[in-house]
Amino acid sequence: MKNAFVTKEQIEEIVKTYPTPFHIYDEKGIRENARKLYQAFSWNKGYKEYFAVKATPNPTILRILKEEGCGTDCSSYTELLMSEKVGITGHDIMFSSNDMPKEDFELASRLGAIINLDDYTHIDFLNETCGVPETICCRYNPGGTFSISTTIMDNPGDAKYGMTKEQLLKAYPRLKAAGAKHFGLHAFLASNTVTNEYYPTLAKILFEVAVEIKEKTGINLSFINLSGGVGVPYTPDKEPNDILAIGEGVHKAFDEVLVPAGLGDVSIFTELGRFMLAPYGELVTKAIHEKHIYKEYIGVDACAVNLMRPAMYGAYHHITVLGKENEPCDYTYDVTGSLCENNDKFAIDRKLPKIDMGDYLVIHDAGAHGFSMGYNYNGKLKSAELLLCEDGSVKQIRRAETPADYFATLEGYWDV
Ligand SMILES: *Cc1c(COP(=O)(O)O)cnc(C)c1O
Repeated sequence: MKNAFVTKEQIEEIVKTYPTPFHIYDEKGIRENARKLYQAFSWNKGYKEYFAVKATPNPTILRILKEEGCGTDCSSYTELLMSEKVGITGHDIMFSSNDMPKEDFELASRLGAIINLDDYTHIDFLNETCGVPETICCRYNPGGTFSISTTIMDNPGDAKYGMTKEQLLKAYPRLKAAGAKHFGLHAFLASNTVTNEYYPTLAKILFEVAVEIKEKTGINLSFINLSGGVGVPYTPDKEPNDILAIGEGVHKAFDEVLVPAGLGDVSIFTELGRFMLAPYGELVTKAIHEKHIYKEYIGVDACAVNLMRPAMYGAYHHITVLGKENEPCDYTYDVTGSLCENNDKFAIDRKLPKIDMGDYLVIHDAGAHGFSMGYNYNGKLKSAELLLCEDGSVKQIRRAETPADYFATLEGYWDV
């Protein structure tokens, strides 16, 4: 059973000021979850979460997370600028590069961010653009497949990210020769894992590499970055991850591998995005059309522009019809948006209560990789983002786009 964090009465009040569709975030949920994460890793003295900005790039959200002790994980020029704007700079930024232009490296360097190098050839590129900083991280790709016990979770061998182990073993000494003094190791091997085993399994792999780096190069790592990938249960039948158990699993691997190797003062970093925000953001939309042809369709005022995951990956997002939480789900609908694309469906053959025109639908788990993946296809405009504050009040934290925003980059026709 998944419950919306807003009620029909609340939404009826909110739409008097902010019309649907909009994304709404739950400040209380965000803060409580962040505190639990810090509790899970409190055994590690240098622990820090660098929130993956791409999941929910809104300065108000970043400020809330900053207040809970988080930094940012940035991967572009504008994400760096947004981070700077909310006062997150220096080593509170992880700059996870992959195919970065030099301007991005230069800004990361100016802000004093920790640069996470994606490739061996980027050592020269960095040296030529802004120099090798004192603190530097390298991204690892072990190749092959990544499994937890007998289940294949993902295929790092097909992923564009990271360096081979041989490259890592050459990279650290070269970085040291170029002036680096503090070193980190990073890997992201599987996405949206709904198992308490992902981080501990990944941690053990990285910890063993850290020991090998120490043995072969004499370099002691200062931090190990477990990156993102801890997921959320999008479907109501799945159990959510237990972050306290995950933290304990990493602790155990730490005590087994790093401590005996004399690496017991390594800091653990994470770069969670989805886990930090997905359940605490909902897309609220209104039923505006119903259509009866070969199937039953409910047309809503949001579309894939507001939440792309169902159209892009066939992702399941749970839907609650507000005010009908306890009614039987005895109707079967496709819930669609208005794009001229047949994949613009939030749900296909979904069992829901009878939907009447004007009903408000909450699309769950839209708080990460939701608004941020938005685009402007069909000239559709991006929605507003609202914050349900801890005290129950509602604040607009990004206004909806207007046609003037859409036309603003065109030359010669619109002087708006
Ligand atoms: C996307 C990304 C993350 C966050 O991933 P989630 O699945 O949202 O946890 C973290 N680090 C890097 C480098 C990423 O690209």
